[in-house]
Amino acid sequence: MARYVFITGGVVSSLGKGLASAALGALLQARGFSVRLRKLDPYLNVDPGTMSPFEHGEVFVTDDGAETDLDLGHYERFTGVAARNTDSVSSGRVYSSVLEKERRGDYLGKTIQVVPHVTNEIKDFLAVGDDEVDFMLCEIGGTVGDIEGLPFFEAIRQFAHGRPRGECIFMHLTLLPYLAASGELKTKPTQHSVKELQSIGIAPDVLVCRSEHPIPDREREKIALFCNVRKEAVVAAYDLKSIYEAPLAYREQGLDQAVLDAFGISPAPQPSMGKWRDVQDRTLNTDGEVKVAIVGKYIQLEDAYKSIKEALTHGGMANRVRVKVEWVDAEVFDSEDAAPYLEGYDAILVPGGFGERGTEGKIKAAQFARERKVPYLGICLGMQMAVIEAARNVAGLTAAGSEEFDHEAGKKRFEPVVYHLKEWVQGNAKVQRKTDDDKGGTMRLGAYDAVLTEGSKVAEIYGGTAIEERHRHRYEVDIKYRKQLEECGLQFSGMSPDGRLPEIVEWKDHPWFIGVQFHPELKSKPFLPHPLFADFVRAAVDNSRLV
Ligand code: GLN
Repeated sequence: MARYVFITGGVVSSLGKGLASAALGALLQARGFSVRLRKLDPYLNVDPGTMSPFEHGEVFVTDDGAETDLDLGHYERFTGVAARNTDSVSSGRVYSSVLEKERRGDYLGKTIQVVPHVTNEIKDFLAVGDDEVDFMLCEIGGTVGDIEGLPFFEAIRQFAHGRPRGECIFMHLTLLPYLAASGELKTKPTQHSVKELQSIGIAPDVLVCRSEHPIPDREREKIALFCNVRKEAVVAAYDLKSIYEAPLAYREQGLDQAVLDAFGISPAPQPSMGKWRDVQDRTLNTDGEVKVAIVGKYIQLEDAYKSIKEALTHGGMANRVRVKVEWVDAEVFDSEDAAPYLEGYDAILVPGGFGERGTEGKIKAAQFARERKVPYLGICLGMQMAVIEAARNVAGLTAAGSEEFDHEAGKKRFEPVVYHLKEWVQGNAKVQRKTDDDKGGTMRLGAYDAVLTEGSKVAEIYGGTAIEERHRHRYEVDIKYRKQLEECGLQFSGMSPDGRLPEIVEWKDHPWFIGVQFHPELKSKPFLPHPLFADFVRAAVDNSRLV
């Protein structure tokens, strides 16, 4: 049976609970333990799939096709453990499952209540796979005291109560605000936050205190005394230059030791931090910088492209360069020349996206990159835009477009080079969708195999011809245009195993122009940069040296 660490937050949101959880996972792994991380989100959406990236940031897709919170991306990037559908749950999902059971009559006519029905549902979710790992780290979204979070707090309290003594601990993140006028760190908000937790029956074992200033011993003692935790279990979390310093920084502050002590695991195996030292070294000791433009739509909230930004950073680590990302709003040059907006970048990336807005600008960005021989990486919609650009401007199909935009506008304006896919093969099974299915979950989601063409650039980059990558899209490039486009030089160098769905395109006579229908960014890690991102950044470095 796994030991459980429940991670909660207080005082304010955005304290870096996800990062602390991910770093703790990495530290426990460094001591030889196996871990799995989970996120419990109090919002009522069934999953983040239908939430606006402007509001919620990126949707992180798992191998098994779940659309989850972006914190799961952090977990994977730090631990390398592939997240699963069962690692993310929201109130919406819990309630819909409870209501489904109620409709089916599973509760035998009982009155359905938050306690015990909703809390039991959460507890069942927590227990899934608890025989597979040494430690299960479960992060509760939001902050203690939020109305919608209460069932989750009650559920973790009951869960810990039902397990053998010492098998579950609680770690709470808070903020120590600094008052410049008096030159002091204030501990009162932390005390209140812990009180709030205690009032619902949870006593934290470890306190992680975010602070912009060093925490004096005196304050640490005070926090320990008033919050009823051991002094060594008051762990400081200072601001970092890079998130990838977090495992080493938390190690230095004794987070993993505090957690192991709380479980009474002694003596604990010594950690081996070589992997993270190398990551830190590659972050801090760089030689030069490349400038990459991300031409997108959701540029107001950088979290909308979180994994892409991180994957580019990993690509930089692979080449020991800093990658400076600049966000370019595609809509701005929808109807004007893109060149003035795109000159001066060493590489261009067009990320995934939904809807027509800004797509003419993205098509122009693909054209600019093709004509000017600037490295281009098109991801999902970014690949579709590159294909439409090729069809319109090279193959002479001037009306080329995507069915997605016609669907939106309710009329037929485009020749559908990119069309709505309603049936495909997953493993040995056929998957079918109707146009009017629910908005959530109607996409080709999760990991799919692809076969790469021998001798293509991508086969060389991947170092093989069999790959597996994660998908999240409804539309596909229509294979019926393959011959015509290949004759123009756009090679279809990656295909689904049945040969029906184009997975990768690349321009043959271009230094680096690749479009992929999947999301390679989701699988990149600092200690294992994704080959496409590593090579894309290498191409950007080469390009920067040309001038
Ligand atoms: N909107 C496109 C589709 O559904 C692309 C999706 C994406 O970029 N993730 O196919």
